[in-house]
Amino acid sequence: MLVADAHVHFFSHHFFELLAAQKPGLTLEAMQAKLEWQFPPAEPEKLAEAWARELDRHGVDRAALIASLPGDFESVAAAVHAHPDRFFAFAMVNPNTWKPETFSDIRVACLFPAMHGYSVHDPLVEPVLQWAAEGHRAIFVHCGALSVGIRKKLGLPSPFDLRFSNPIDLHAVAARYPQVPFIVPHFGAGYFREALMLADLCPNVYLDTSSSNRWMRYQESHMDLRQVFRHALDVVGPKRLLFGSDSSYYPRGWHYQIFEEQATALYELGVSLADARAIFSENLVRILAA
Ligand SMILES: [Zn+2]
Repeated sequence: MLVADAHVHFFSHHFFELLAAQKPGLTLEAMQAKLEWQFPPAEPEKLAEAWARELDRHGVDRAALIASLPGDFESVAAAVHAHPDRFFAFAMVNPNTWKPETFSDIRVACLFPAMHGYSVHDPLVEPVLQWAAEGHRAIFVHCGALSVGIRKKLGLPSPFDLRFSNPIDLHAVAARYPQVPFIVPHFGAGYFREALMLADLCPNVYLDTSSSNRWMRYQESHMDLRQVFRHALDVVGPKRLLFGSDSSYYPRGWHYQIFEEQATALYELGVSLADARAIFSENLVRILAA
């Protein structure tokens, strides 16, 4: 079975430089010591090569690479240029500072309204939506609980505002752009019910299954991954779920445990091979096909 991962963070060298610039005195060396991660080579093409080998090792066919700070879009663009059949370029956008002309190689703009303090209804988001509509691109909108592990580890402030994180906010926007696929990661990251409502009402909304889904502990009654998938399959169906791992750093590399847990949950639910194929690769490839 082919696997296409809808959620891999591309922590490039430039990404770490941008992070370092956010805190006076924070150097790359200090970061390296604190994180105990393997730092990427300076050239994004080399990191892309490492990811290609890592995916080969796990039998993963394709992956979305997410530039995880505004200003790092060139790194994923370079990665995709080096491996056009392998990677999809996703990039975080801050609509306050965004320039569409720099985004020609990007397929998916990733909005983090709670991180950058705006509502998806704000007119400043409109150019991003237009860019997606005109170029057959997609929009990823992070909803729900937002905590960025690397910021915590480095002691960087995270003045986020969860008032802007409800999937319900996306309803009118997604309805206005029915031709644009909207991807909500982590099943709504705590807003599971709202994410299902949104996806039920808007056929252009997709849910990504990525990460350990720790939001399950917010549910009133205990929920495990199997129940999450069963409920999501009931409401949204198999054609709008996108497998994602939320892999990011080395030496961990591709987070295969996430794949194993999710594949096990779907197997235990008795999901057909056709539906598993859709979730693990075909849906992502279909919505991002040029
Ligand atoms: Zn992520």
